Amino acid sequence: MGQSENDAVNSGAEALRALEQSLRECRGCGLCNGRTQVVFGVGNPDAELMFVGEGPGFHEDKQGEPFVGAAGKLLTELLGEIGLNRADVYIANVVKCRPPENRDPTPEEIEACSPHLMDQIAIIRPRVICTLGRFAAKLLADTELSMTAIHGRAKEREIAGVRLVVFPVFHPAAALYTPANRKVLQADFMKLRHLLANGLDALEARPAETTRESQLSGPADAPRSGGAQGGGRGPAATRVEQLPLW
Ligand code: URA
Repeated sequence: MGQSENDAVNSGAEALRALEQSLRECRGCGLCNGRTQVVFGVGNPDAELMFVGEGPGFHEDKQGEPFVGAAGKLLTELLGEIGLNRADVYIANVVKCRPPENRDPTPEEIEACSPHLMDQIAIIRPRVICTLGRFAAKLLADTELSMTAIHGRAKEREIAGVRLVVFPVFHPAAALYTPANRKVLQADFMKLRHLLANGLDALEARPAETTRESQLSGPADAPRSGGAQGGGRGPAATRVEQLPLW
């Protein structure tokens, strides 16, 4: 790594530290009343790949780190299967304090906390954000479609001033006791690997007539900004479908 890249990583790490520090005593929503601590995020401040989950659970709340419980163990395994480890990526959540009894975060809590996620994204500037579960997908892929419709399909977006690709997958917790979901997650992680290796060349526009949502949104093969248009793509089996733009 050259000196200027080193400086950028160091300043990203410092900016994240300062942001984390500023949130230690956050009272931006009611979740502050039940938390042990704010679970800010962890990993490489210069990561190309960022994961965003829903919110801390019991173990995360106690340890102060996202995805350290059973779902986190599965996430670590899935990363290993595509040749990555936790230190390569950055891991955060939509809400940074544990919802009581692991209930879903409310729209008000998400609205209160998401500016902090946007600040993290602006500092890290990832190429790809892999959303884990429906809350992160809804927020970052800006969609009301079901996880069944969108998992394993990429969407180009500008978030917090960063042009990036959002790639929704099922939440690992959904795969803990359901082997079929685990297989789906494994297949989506293989696509994620392909997306990381080949960038926009990995994106395959889905034919308009095959998608229910594209009937609502117009042609799925609209031109992409800065995207390669098909030459030199990888094998068909690993192509990543592009979510229709809407
Ligand atoms: N589930 C999440 O969504 N986030 C965590 O950090 C842990 C479990």
